[in-house]
Amino acid sequence: MQTTVIGLGKMGRALATALVERGHDTTVWNRTPGRSGDLAVTHAATAADAFAANELVILCLLDSESVVAVLDGVDVRDRTIVNLTTSTPAEAAKLSALVAERGGDYLDGGIMAIPSMIGTPAAVVLYSGSEQAFRRAEDVLAAFGDRRYLGAEPGLAALNDIAMLTGMYGMFGGFVHAAAMVRTEGVPVVEFTETLLIPWLRGLFPALVGMAAQIDSGDYTAKESDLSMQVANDGIAEVSRAQGVSTELSEPLFTLMRRRVEQGFGGDDFPSVIELLS
Ligand code: NDP
Repeated sequence: MQTTVIGLGKMGRALATALVERGHDTTVWNRTPGRSGDLAVTHAATAADAFAANELVILCLLDSESVVAVLDGVDVRDRTIVNLTTSTPAEAAKLSALVAERGGDYLDGGIMAIPSMIGTPAAVVLYSGSEQAFRRAEDVLAAFGDRRYLGAEPGLAALNDIAMLTGMYGMFGGFVHAAAMVRTEGVPVVEFTETLLIPWLRGLFPALVGMAAQIDSGDYTAKESDLSMQVANDGIAEVSRAQGVSTELSEPLFTLMRRRVEQGFGGDDFPSVIELLS
């Protein structure tokens, strides 16, 4: 399928490269000319020309504002628009309505990868919005990596994308706090991370599925490590202070855990804390 790529920033260029490498006939447009390097692509002179060139148009721009700016003044009738620009669920819903109003079909996407991962099995792209658009574009989208269609609600990809980043930052936060602690005694952080932290976390990962099941069922009854025990043994705050390490990262979490115990849920497992969030 002939394809247009709008936006040749770091990510857009990676997407265009993946298409070309898999033999897709690709037309590109970028606001600033000269960004395609030696890629074997056709250059459209204007955004309107790029949209006119092919039925499938993939956008990867800085933000939703730039997408709105590019869509202004181009004809999207009968076009399948796949927007891989990071957006919020509200922005995705707005863009979907805008494209539909003007006769196009809209699919939103969230890229869970950095540019060098594009085209490898490690890259995952989440999609939501028009299922028809997804089915039509699926073979082309396969060039980027694993593809997951999450449903017709346009904002679902953005919501899941941000939720995954939320999980990632939680892990990063725990990592830097742990590193700050061992660093106070001169322990090499790489050694600690490779030999102790990663094996420990890897062993714990499967437990997340059990925690997720508790959240889905609403039954948080603890089997092994209840909140009362975890709060009573909060060595993190005590040892951090003793080592001169800030507790700014861990304190908000333990505040929630203590509040849950005060509410009478000390016999619950950790995921019970979610009831204080939503
Ligand atoms: P870059 O900053 O490298 O590229 C931004 C692109 O947007 C350029 O093509 C730029 O054009 C274009 N642009 C900006 N403003 C406008 C505008 N008003 N009108 C038209 N074009 C505009 O960003 P990336 O390529 O890294 O990121 C692109 C998207 O991909 C973002 O939404 C990002 O969140 C997402 N993403 C990026 C990842 C990464 O690791 N890089 C990872 C996952 C998602 P010009 O060249 O003219 O400035």
